[in-house]
Amino acid sequence: EAQQEIHFFFPRQNTLALIKPNSAQEHKAEILEEIKSKGFAIKNQQEKYLSEEVAEEFYKEHKDKPFFSQLVQFICSGPCLQLVLSKENAVEDWRMMMGPTDPNRAKEVSPDSLRARFGSDILHNAVHGSSSVEQSDREIRLLFGDLSAAVTSTEGEEDGFVFV
Ligand code: UDP
Repeated sequence: EAQQEIHFFFPRQNTLALIKPNSAQEHKAEILEEIKSKGFAIKNQQEKYLSEEVAEEFYKEHKDKPFFSQLVQFICSGPCLQLVLSKENAVEDWRMMMGPTDPNRAKEVSPDSLRARFGSDILHNAVHGSSSVEQSDREIRLLFGDLSAAVTSTEGEEDGFVFV
């Protein structure tokens, strides 16, 4: 009898994570431990203030939203821990760890998520994660500049497959 074999390929990806300023910074050691325990490699990391210019470019897709100036002001209000995370399916898996944008919703649907635990409101929501591989490439280049040469996306590597 023929046995069916299904292969799932999870491409190895990079994603850009931020531990946003102020209250989330107090929990960064715990957050870093959790990131590592979930199998992410931290390929690059730096802690610094974003300039207003970089923050506006980073969040340019929101430039016409009513919350844009508050968002830029908040993200520049203290040092940001910037991380290049790498693993199979990193973009989606990091966003799962973060939880929904609004911490109040996160508390309902995903109480173990970082935003549920460490966010205080929809603006001050503790963490950022790229929304796609294309966005992660753009964000990594913007924040890490020349350093990003070492961390270009490795999507397409088929090093993660599972037999069912
Ligand atoms: N944000 C906000 N008010 C809103 C929606 C978003 O202040 O109504 C902020 C919040 O900090 C969020 C960021 O803008 O993380 C970017 O919004 P986006 O919709 O891209 O959410 P994310 O991808 O971060 O979950």
